[in-house]
Amino acid sequence: MRSALSTLEVATPRDLAHALRLLHDSLATERLVPLAGGTDLLVYLNAGQQVGRRFLNLWGLRELRGIREARGGVTLGALTTFTMIREHPLVRRCLPALAAAAAVIGAWQVQNRATIAGNIANGSPAGDSLPVLLAHEAVVHARSMRGGRDIPFGTLYRGYRDLVLEPDELITAVTVPFPPARAFPFFRKVGTRRAQSISKVVLCGLVRVARGGEVDLARVALGSVAPVTLRARRAERALLGARPSATATAAARAALMEDIAPIDDIRSDAAYRRAVAGNVLEQFLRAADARFTMG
Ligand SMILES: Cc1cc2nc3c(=O)[nH]c(=O)nc-3n(C[C@H](O)[C@H](O)[C@H](O)COP(=O)(O)OP(=O)(O)OC[C@H]3O[C@@H](n4cnc5c(N)ncnc54)[C@H](O)[C@@H]3O)c2cc1C
Repeated sequence: MRSALSTLEVATPRDLAHALRLLHDSLATERLVPLAGGTDLLVYLNAGQQVGRRFLNLWGLRELRGIREARGGVTLGALTTFTMIREHPLVRRCLPALAAAAAVIGAWQVQNRATIAGNIANGSPAGDSLPVLLAHEAVVHARSMRGGRDIPFGTLYRGYRDLVLEPDELITAVTVPFPPARAFPFFRKVGTRRAQSISKVVLCGLVRVARGGEVDLARVALGSVAPVTLRARRAERALLGARPSATATAAARAALMEDIAPIDDIRSDAAYRRAVAGNVLEQFLRAADARFTMG
């Protein structure tokens, strides 16, 4: 049953310090649920899921906005929407995989509201920006009244939708390092159709072939193939040191099958997800091979 809107409360803080105070104080009674673009929360409310009754409206907080170049990367404020990411010249030029992911999240209406921190905190294994953040070894910036801390993205999830964030912490920003020099970036989402679909498999990769001809950098991150977004460490190990070839690709594909643990659900089944994950990995490695062969 839908949640009746008349039973809900929304607190609108003046600034970040006020927001952190309200969040902290709410823990004594009923925690305020951070509300950013609302594109996940309102779906849950509409479906009658118990996400809470009291919300902390972050939308007006200027401290959580903005995209700026950081040392060796880009820092995105928590409220950065996927439209902003998709359109930002620095992101398009230096983080093309992130721009590509932003462009296939929902439709334009969703991209105008959906935020990067909302995607991260929602913690869905199908969240399309998450493999990009994982492959680029992003850092999440969190803050509470007790202070701030930086959380490597690779350590953010303990399990299915289970984050290491404390109840009094907000995500304030995420820093995404630029890919290492000469690395080839790749992003591919496979869903039921090209737009407005939830991923059946989503992959972000970075690979580099050294001047000597062997792979000296391999990062492969996938979503929708396990309870959390994961790095395919066995596939990465199979690639490192190998010379691009059909044999190396087959070895990486076989190793990937050991990395992932997809399930059958309403969107797809495990066997399909395995086949598609392998195909997308091959597509990534073929594209990289073509790029490095051309020099
Ligand atoms: C029609 C439709 C299509 C969609 N398609 C896609 C898709 O293709 N790919 C995809 O990945 N997602 C998709 N989504 C899901 C959704 O748009 C994203 O997950 C989005 O990034 C959520 O951001 P938000 O700002 O709307 O989050 P909200 O709904 O406001 O919040 C989501 C969660 O994050 C928490 N939160 C938000 N901000 C913070 C913060 N700063 N600190 C701590 N916690 C915070 C909230 O408390 C809540 O638990 C779709 C949603 C809809 C409705």
